[in-house]
Amino acid sequence: MDTTQEANAAAGARTELIGLTRQELGAALAAIGMPAFRARQLWHWLYFHGATSFDAMTTLSKDARARLAERFSITRPAISRELTSTDGTRKWLVRFGDGKEAECVHIPEEDRGALCVSAQVGCTLTCAFCHTGTQRLVRNLTAGEIVGQVMVARDSYGEWPGRPQERRLTNIVMMGMGEPLYNYDNVANALRIAMDEEGIAISKRKITLSTAGVVPLIERVGQELGVGLAVSLHAVTDELRDKLVPINRKHPIAELMAACRAYPGARNSRRITFEYVMLKGVNDSPADARALVKLIHDIPAKVNLIPFNPWPGTAFECSDDATIDKFAQILMDAHYAAPVRTPRGRDIMAACGQLKSDSERERRVRAPMAPQPQAV
Ligand code: SAH
Repeated sequence: MDTTQEANAAAGARTELIGLTRQELGAALAAIGMPAFRARQLWHWLYFHGATSFDAMTTLSKDARARLAERFSITRPAISRELTSTDGTRKWLVRFGDGKEAECVHIPEEDRGALCVSAQVGCTLTCAFCHTGTQRLVRNLTAGEIVGQVMVARDSYGEWPGRPQERRLTNIVMMGMGEPLYNYDNVANALRIAMDEEGIAISKRKITLSTAGVVPLIERVGQELGVGLAVSLHAVTDELRDKLVPINRKHPIAELMAACRAYPGARNSRRITFEYVMLKGVNDSPADARALVKLIHDIPAKVNLIPFNPWPGTAFECSDDATIDKFAQILMDAHYAAPVRTPRGRDIMAACGQLKSDSERERRVRAPMAPQPQAV
């Protein structure tokens, strides 16, 4: 039992179960004299069946359920708002216990669907082209609040336990608000819970974590979690990347590339994704594309080209289609996959770099936002 739990117990407060790792759950139950098999049963109810109350746990005796309810709670983030796009993309604005909010987005495809999960409320990175980066960091999310986003999405689709082959939520991308590697421990525990085979069971092959380049933690992502790595590269020279992605001043491109080269598990069947936002006249020339090929030449990689998603007040513009096509062609000629991220959910403001911001603006003007013309 950690100090928080002890303090809670002393104060008579109930300990939140969602977000505890298996070990922590076992310890919390042991502390009230419950055997290890109860922890396994409980885990199954929480993460396989998605139970939201102890009453639902019918394989437990009434007495055990009552004891658990006295000491523990099972909390989901509340849904402030749920929006579904005409293309099926669904966005939830979720509210946590202290009233802070974050967004997560489900992007369905024919035979699968990825949930884009937030790691922080706000962000400290201040990437020049990202709207979320203009909002100040409010706080890190807890492990329970991170895995809670996955649980809310499963609730919404009624996929507990559901037939795995029929699920709409099959993949997780840590690409929502915030920098996941500035909240590593909570993100890692949330992903461990999501990957656990006796629960949510989304395998590491179906999870991708995106970082702006927190180099010292990249190796641990591969070693401890084994999930796929995406890197927000966006520029091929330090001079430009210093401006676009300011964390580059701390961890420049050469250092970042070395970490990618050494990423545990990177190979052709498990390539590193380099994200590259297409900014008109800034980073989108054929020379940039050729330099990018050189930069990643010894890394099993693919490049995800993201048309810039504009927001009010930004000086950046999105490259035009012909420029993006040309850029992609240079990468493909060098045998790199270079998909252009298709616009999804533009009618509900579910775009890269815009999460949360619309809800803040919307509240201020108290009227629905018009759809953005170029939302990604
Ligand atoms: N902090 C993480 C997750 C960020 S969001 C990271 O930096 O990787 C996912 C991707 O969207 C990142 O590559 C980010 O750089 C990109 N992005 C941010 N704002 C954008 C915008 N306005 N248009 C297009 N892509 C954007």
